Amino acid sequence: MIHIIGGGLQGCFFAIALMEQSRIPRDRIRLYDPADNLLDRWLKQSAACGMTHLRSNSSHSIHYDFNHLRCYARDRGVDLWDSPEFALPYHRPSIGLFNDHAAMCIERYGLEELHVRTSVDAMKGSGAISVGGEELEGIALYAGGFQHGGPNFPGWARDLAISGVPIRHVFGSALPGSAPRPPSTGKTRRRREIIVGGGISALQYAIKSAGENRRPLMVTRRELEIYRFDFDPCFIGPKCRPRLEQQERQRGPQGRMDLVLSGRLSGTVPGEIHDQFMDLVKSRRAELIVAGEDLAGEVTRRAGETGAEVILCTGFRRPTATDWGIAGLDGEGMISGYPRIGSELKIGRRMFLTGASAMYRLGPAAPNLIGAHLAWRVINAEIAAEYSLMTA
Ligand SMILES: Cc1cc2nc3c(=O)[nH]c(=O)nc-3n(C[C@H](O)[C@H](O)[C@H](O)COP(=O)(O)OP(=O)(O)OC[C@H]3O[C@@H](n4cnc5c(N)ncnc54)[C@H](O)[C@@H]3O)c2cc1C
Repeated sequence: MIHIIGGGLQGCFFAIALMEQSRIPRDRIRLYDPADNLLDRWLKQSAACGMTHLRSNSSHSIHYDFNHLRCYARDRGVDLWDSPEFALPYHRPSIGLFNDHAAMCIERYGLEELHVRTSVDAMKGSGAISVGGEELEGIALYAGGFQHGGPNFPGWARDLAISGVPIRHVFGSALPGSAPRPPSTGKTRRRREIIVGGGISALQYAIKSAGENRRPLMVTRRELEIYRFDFDPCFIGPKCRPRLEQQERQRGPQGRMDLVLSGRLSGTVPGEIHDQFMDLVKSRRAELIVAGEDLAGEVTRRAGETGAEVILCTGFRRPTATDWGIAGLDGEGMISGYPRIGSELKIGRRMFLTGASAMYRLGPAAPNLIGAHLAWRVINAEIAAEYSLMTA
């Protein structure tokens, strides 16, 4: 059995790739995730921040074929170059199109039938996993995502909640002590929202809020920073990858990991979304304050003056070595909270890693959709070989 741990975008990607490219029979694959439905986290979070289009382009989906999403759209009569389903110039698919395509893939490959609704407690280098006290032999593939550190709550936000201001994280619940959400005051004058953060989720949320007539106030520490991706794409190709090896040689594993983490560009925003938000600011349908070091003070003052709810779009905390909630990932040691793994992306003989858990080796793109392709290229032959040996 091939045990895929995690039923998110990457877990589904691997289930499909294993069936289609490695010809692994469907009934030899399991997808473990405690959520009721596959892609649960993705669907909830992209809806919570009002995401309209993906940040990645239309080559990326849960199917390993880079053309699959575009063919799906074309077969449904969507014009690839002149349709709101694709945001130009980078051809980013709409969230509706992306999710419809994902749902079609889940249906077509029968992935929900492989879904075991439980957490995996431990993995071993032998490929065995522990689930509810039972040990299951096989090949383990860890695709548990990048959010083990949980939503990032700045310390001052906790104080603000305790002082009775309504405050919540865009991807989480209200902070302890937070006042309940203030009621809307009617159709035309909706309650205001104060949005903290200047990355893509903050801007998408602000655009949604402005569309609901709430005149959002965004408070950021620094000027908005435009960047096409949330990672440095140079590390995908031959230009920058050697720098990782060089750092490792010169400064050891910590040097490599520091360079990987510096290539994560969280808190940046693609140009089109930036321009869309700034148009709202110019037409006074939204407001932007760059507060610098006084961010906490500014938010506190504005919350006091307006009675608005504060929405934290402050991303996720980096996981510590103990946050992952599954035993076995530290087999080769941990570094800055991430597993330290070799170029074969495995621990022991049959425990393979993808996504954020493989970031030390794959570089800053690992947690994203492109990261699934990077990992697949490395591990597909090895998994197929181990599977043949196991079933011989
Ligand atoms: C708002 C938003 C927009 C984004 N836009 C893009 C984009 O345009 N392009 C892009 O490439 N990326 C984007 N990302 C990043 C995106 O989330 C990741 O690319 C993608 O979701 C990662 O997929 P994943 O399967 O690794 O992780 P997740 O989607 O986090 O799924 C991991 C799953 O593993 C499960 N799990 C964890 N531990 C265990 C365990 N022990 N046992 C069983 N199950 C477990 C979790 O329950 C979860 O369901 C975006 C992220 C957000 C929040």
